[in-house]
Amino acid sequence: MEPVRSQRKLIVNDVVSTLPLYRSAPALEVRLEEFELFALDRLRVLKGISDALSRGRKPEEMEKLAIDLWKTNMRHPQASEVINKDIISHFVLRLVYCRTEDLRKWFLSMETALFRYRFKREKQEAQRALMAEFDLPYKAVSSSEFESVKEKLVLVSRSLGQSSPTADDIFFKVPFEEVPELVAGRRVFISKGHAYIAMSQVVSLVATQFRSHLSRALILTNRKWTTTIAEQEKDRLTPIVEALSSSYLGPDYSQPKEFAQISLKDIDDVAKSSFPLCMRHLFEKLREDHHLKHGGRMQLGLFLKGVGLKLDDALAFWKAEFSRKVGAERFDKEYSYGIRHNYGREGKRTDYTPYSCQKIISSTPGVGDHHGCPYRNFSEENLRAALNKMGVTGRAVGDVMDKVRNRHYQLACTLTFEAVHGSSCDAGINHPNQYFSDSQKIMQSKNQSAA
Ligand code: SF4
Repeated sequence: MEPVRSQRKLIVNDVVSTLPLYRSAPALEVRLEEFELFALDRLRVLKGISDALSRGRKPEEMEKLAIDLWKTNMRHPQASEVINKDIISHFVLRLVYCRTEDLRKWFLSMETALFRYRFKREKQEAQRALMAEFDLPYKAVSSSEFESVKEKLVLVSRSLGQSSPTADDIFFKVPFEEVPELVAGRRVFISKGHAYIAMSQVVSLVATQFRSHLSRALILTNRKWTTTIAEQEKDRLTPIVEALSSSYLGPDYSQPKEFAQISLKDIDDVAKSSFPLCMRHLFEKLREDHHLKHGGRMQLGLFLKGVGLKLDDALAFWKAEFSRKVGAERFDKEYSYGIRHNYGREGKRTDYTPYSCQKIISSTPGVGDHHGCPYRNFSEENLRAALNKMGVTGRAVGDVMDKVRNRHYQLACTLTFEAVHGSSCDAGINHPNQYFSDSQKIMQSKNQSAA
């Protein structure tokens, strides 16, 4: 019987799987609002997986974590729409993450990891149905062949601490290059270029197929996006696609909450104890040069607003520094407008939001600029010096530098936070204002227990 392909459910030989293979874009009408909301929900799942993997969570923990993230974020008020949400969100993120090599690489790894965890949770019949859907030409090993290699299979199972296989267990014989991770981990018996893989190991084979299909599809999507999508359609979608690739998914820090105010007299102490490196650097440069370029004024100014510096204090703070360089009159004329603007008192009167890590990390500071994320922009030497100045020394510096080398800047910042405060930060750092408020909470509880 030929497999029946459906966007809603995959049905092969009457076996139903709710895990789609995302072969072709759905012929569904999607409201722009759902287009964005569904994608944000899926992004929460992929980001959660990415953070946990880079923090070195164990494989057993990862599976549970991924499935919990999936259940929390991918629900839909109508149960029948869950699969559509899954498919729509995948294709929207394809569009978002097809545009550069780095984006493609990240999306490919996270989607493959997610697919792997979900596949493992499927029933055995559904797993075989998915194998059939990939048109994998492998047949189960016959009982006579099983008997001929049984001893070897028993040895492999024992070395993995598993029970010995019996004639009822299903094995497949596949070219060994199709299961590279099983071969690398010596978790299969290989004979004459073929690996004998158990049903429980089929996930490796299927995940390799999934990955190579998606990899090709991402290149094609990118080509289509740049050449064939109608301009009108592109104009409508581009702002959403761009916002999604740098979207911040955490709480809103536009208004200070727990720590209602910081005052000018405390600001230097608070900067030393609770500002993340990006803001400490801007703060120190401002004190040193009595000037910051536009990018720095925006990044630091909005952060200070978010930590509770009132407009009058902000004006006094910036004026005290800038007037030493450009004079009070020029400050009033050229710079005070920008500060009032950040507080929503000028122009469109929008209350501007402090920048998230993602936005800061993706900025590209030019010569003479001091904004951006130091973990990304500093040389190794400068970063080591800055960490030492914050009180991070010894092995902790090496751990931070490791994360930086692997371009996990937010994790590097999280490790710095943990080293500075002697306290863990399981949620990771996603926003400079979160760094500040988490730091203040720790400082306050330390002060209370010392009192
Ligand atoms: S990771 Fe975020 S908070 Fe930390 S330095 Fe970079 S931008 Fe600032």
